[in-house]
Amino acid sequence: MKYLSILGSTGSIGTQTIDVVNQHPDRFIIVALVAHHNIDLLEQQILAHEPIMAGVVDESAYKALKSRYHGPTKLYCGEEALIAAATLQEATMVITAIVGAAGISSTVEAIKAGKTIGLANKETLVAGGFLITSLAKEHNVKILPIDSEHSAIFQCLEGQVKENVDKLIITASGGPLRTWTREQIQTATAADCLRHPTWSMGNKITIDSASLFNKGLEVIEAHWLFDFDFEHIDVVVHPQSIVHSMIMMKDGAILAQLGNPDMREPIQYAMTYPDRIPLVYKTLEFKELLELQFMPPRYDDFPALKLAFEVGRQGGFKPAVFNAANETAVYAFLEDKISFPQIYQTVTSVLDAMESEDDFTLDNLLAIDQWARCKASELIK
Ligand code: NAD
Ligand code: MG
Repeated sequence: MKYLSILGSTGSIGTQTIDVVNQHPDRFIIVALVAHHNIDLLEQQILAHEPIMAGVVDESAYKALKSRYHGPTKLYCGEEALIAAATLQEATMVITAIVGAAGISSTVEAIKAGKTIGLANKETLVAGGFLITSLAKEHNVKILPIDSEHSAIFQCLEGQVKENVDKLIITASGGPLRTWTREQIQTATAADCLRHPTWSMGNKITIDSASLFNKGLEVIEAHWLFDFDFEHIDVVVHPQSIVHSMIMMKDGAILAQLGNPDMREPIQYAMTYPDRIPLVYKTLEFKELLELQFMPPRYDDFPALKLAFEVGRQGGFKPAVFNAANETAVYAFLEDKISFPQIYQTVTSVLDAMESEDDFTLDNLLAIDQWARCKASELIK
């Protein structure tokens, strides 16, 4: 039996995690649920699963839930709720499904408490990769990838000797603007970007998929998860999102993991690893015509990807600043405060304004993350 804390239970990954739990009530028990403010859905989840605790990060939403829910689940409010769920004694696995570097502290605390991490929250690993992976080693904690590309690479790498692997090949759908001209891309609106061709996801990651910031974050995520340097990580555009990613061996043989785009598959694999159990979803059907295309990314028209490789190589706090500035800019774009190209421009301006770096401690990381958000907001104003 696995006892799960789900951070971000009302989101795209959170609800699909609960769907996997519902398919296997004999294997999983939910002991903690945390959401930001969607208390209607959270309350339904609480009533269905009666976890030991539930948390609402937004204070007024917490008060509203507290005034109407009087069941056995203990309610927590604010950031404290994330930490309480991440460290809950009864939990054996923490699913990190919140958005953004807001997940750093709870991920750190979950690792210190020895919980297995099912990692969806890539921004945390991008910002704090060194800290998070060294801490996980120190506490002998497994970080199991939920991101589909990383789950694919993780599955391909299983049983391989690392020395035999030449490179990781991350696939990218190319997002909703893949076929747009350079001129059209400049004029993309939030509504255009939210029309993702193959995946249905939260707003922030969907915008990142349009700009290829998401693929950039995933390159850095892969670096930390699998300990490959950036010269041995490639990106290839694959519009069908059937090949979830690949590895190339030293002799040129390529191993891939395929499936229909459905996040429940990588979510469940992280939850059952190393076991495989049935999952009800639409599996890939070879009776239908299946056409798979691959092409190089348009690095010049979607400059975020190249920038991600650069900041990844530079290391230190650069990826944290890259991520924080992007988060701030994406929300500004969603609110129509800046144009699509200004997302990238904001990130490069904040990176340019960065001063010399301090030691890589958690406090410094959180401080630099905050600084980058303030700087980005100033620029956006
Ligand atoms: P989402 O917006 O659908 O859901 C986010 C969830 O986190 C919600 O429950 C929300 O209440 C909660 N949340 C957001 N900010 C919070 C905060 N500051 N404190 C506490 N709770 C907070 O997002 P999503 O698409 O599910 O993505 C979640 C994470 O998983 C992201 O890091 C994303 O990059 C990653 N991811 C998502 C997918 C996908 O298919 N959706 C695929 C791969 C990776
Ligand atoms: Mg992905």
